[in-house]
Amino acid sequence: FTKPLTDLEIATKAKLKPITDIADSAKIPFEALEQYGKYKAKIDATKIIGKPTGKVVLVTATSPTPAGEGKSTVTVGLADALNQLKQKVMVALREPSLGPVMGIKGGATGGGYAQVVPMEDINLHFTGDLHAITTANNALAALIDNHIYQGNELKVDPRRIIWKRVLDINDRALRKVVLGLGGPVQGVPREDGFDITVASEIMAVFCLATSLENLKERLANIVIGYTYSKEPVFVRDLGVEGALTVLLKDAFKPNLVQTIEGTPALVHGGPFANIAHGCNSIIATQTARKLADIVVTEAGFGADLGAEKFMNIKARQGSFAPSAVVVVTTIRALKMHGGVEKSALSTENVVALKKGIPNLEKHLDTIRNFGIEPIVALNRFITDTEQEIDVILNWAKDNNIRIARTNVWEEGGKGGLELARQVLEVLEQPQQFTSLYEVSNTIEQKITTIVQKVYGGEGVQFTEQAKKQIAQIKKFGWDVLPICMAKTQYSLSDQPHLLGRPEGFTITVREIIPKLGAGFLVCLTGEIMTMPGLPKEPAALAMDINKNGETIGLF
Ligand code: ADP
Repeated sequence: FTKPLTDLEIATKAKLKPITDIADSAKIPFEALEQYGKYKAKIDATKIIGKPTGKVVLVTATSPTPAGEGKSTVTVGLADALNQLKQKVMVALREPSLGPVMGIKGGATGGGYAQVVPMEDINLHFTGDLHAITTANNALAALIDNHIYQGNELKVDPRRIIWKRVLDINDRALRKVVLGLGGPVQGVPREDGFDITVASEIMAVFCLATSLENLKERLANIVIGYTYSKEPVFVRDLGVEGALTVLLKDAFKPNLVQTIEGTPALVHGGPFANIAHGCNSIIATQTARKLADIVVTEAGFGADLGAEKFMNIKARQGSFAPSAVVVVTTIRALKMHGGVEKSALSTENVVALKKGIPNLEKHLDTIRNFGIEPIVALNRFITDTEQEIDVILNWAKDNNIRIARTNVWEEGGKGGLELARQVLEVLEQPQQFTSLYEVSNTIEQKITTIVQKVYGGEGVQFTEQAKKQIAQIKKFGWDVLPICMAKTQYSLSDQPHLLGRPEGFTITVREIIPKLGAGFLVCLTGEIMTMPGLPKEPAALAMDINKNGETIGLF
């Protein structure tokens, strides 16, 4: 028995093609290519002509274990498999955040032989997009505080500023801070707080903007807080949308990389799916749709989070619809939903597995609610037993559900051929995509629809604060926006410990924050935090540099 190679070891051994070759294979003109070293490039999307006609295949999942269920892995492996079947295909993925990289969940470049590379670069600083987003966010924060310090012409109430500072690290100590201490020359003291970069509205704006011009327009529309007379203050009132656009203009160009098998991939933008909308940028997806016939993309966490927001926010704002949806599941996750402890997930347990299947069934129902017949991808782990696999295959057969076993982690594209064939069959069929709600529905109706049709819950409870915020949002006429739910990824409900397919629960809406630049209303439920903390044993403890200057322990 030899120890399997780590994701990093596999990625480091891979023989990469020069990025110009990848660009050639995707028919990206040389004028559109801005090289960042040998294996990365940014693409000037304005120089990619043609219409976005490629079909979108969305990869989502069941409610995950803390390690993730292999959505990115299957996304990459499925694209490689389609490539092997001679399809013109491209991957569109999110950029990793250093929060999970240093924390608990790990990187976001796929795994095993289904990865986008250079893995280490992409997981660390890549082409600097997250730094640019952090900087633009914090430049705005500094400009707000400076405005107040310099006389506060706009009469911004320091107690009613909703714009927070950000950092792309899990840092619970910064959730609430007091700034401006030290006397008159240091600024005006006020309470503030930090969010993680991937939850910032700048990240959302960046991912939903359809052009640089649209990016600037959205930045101008951001509400940063309220005046002493409770009127909203916009970025356009401060007149700094131009400066923020300048800080973001290079980052806004999609990043081209490759999979281990040489399939072209655009990796761009990375909002979390629990506390933000969870999808890569519209500009990258649309660029990929101009270049390829099929675009395989991923939305974060389970179908209750990323996929719901993909459908109700990204697809709506980008004016496109997915043509096929793959729901990734693992026997490990289903056993967890059947009551098995994390430490025992590798032991065969058919009873628990059967008990956990309803979680998968709910996510499939959700996708059907959007008018699309889902395909289940059973992401094979070496610890799965034949008996367990049979349970799932028989369940699928009995219920007439499309399912494909995937082994892309071990085999790359070859392990995804069955799934690729199923996807191609579905792409041949007409799909009737429908939105779950109209933006013109009331805020309460929209949230109730999500809770009932996506989470399988009974209803919604609003705190007094949320009720006041709804009244204010209505007063300003902002209620006609889609909803961006912030909810735990571990449960279909807002309580992380309620696994499986809970029923009869209500969701508590704690706060509703208008994000007019992004064009949605963020709805905070349960205990969800927009600045995560590090776990007791963060992944950072395993990382090191060896004598040759090479990184080790990065998953
Ligand atoms: P998600 O996108 O759902 O969060 P990822 O694709 O990032 O999940 O995978 C999470 C981790 O699990 C990665 O480290 C990956 O290498 C590992 N992984 C994924 N699929 C498998 C598999 N079939 N066998 C073993 N490890 C896997």
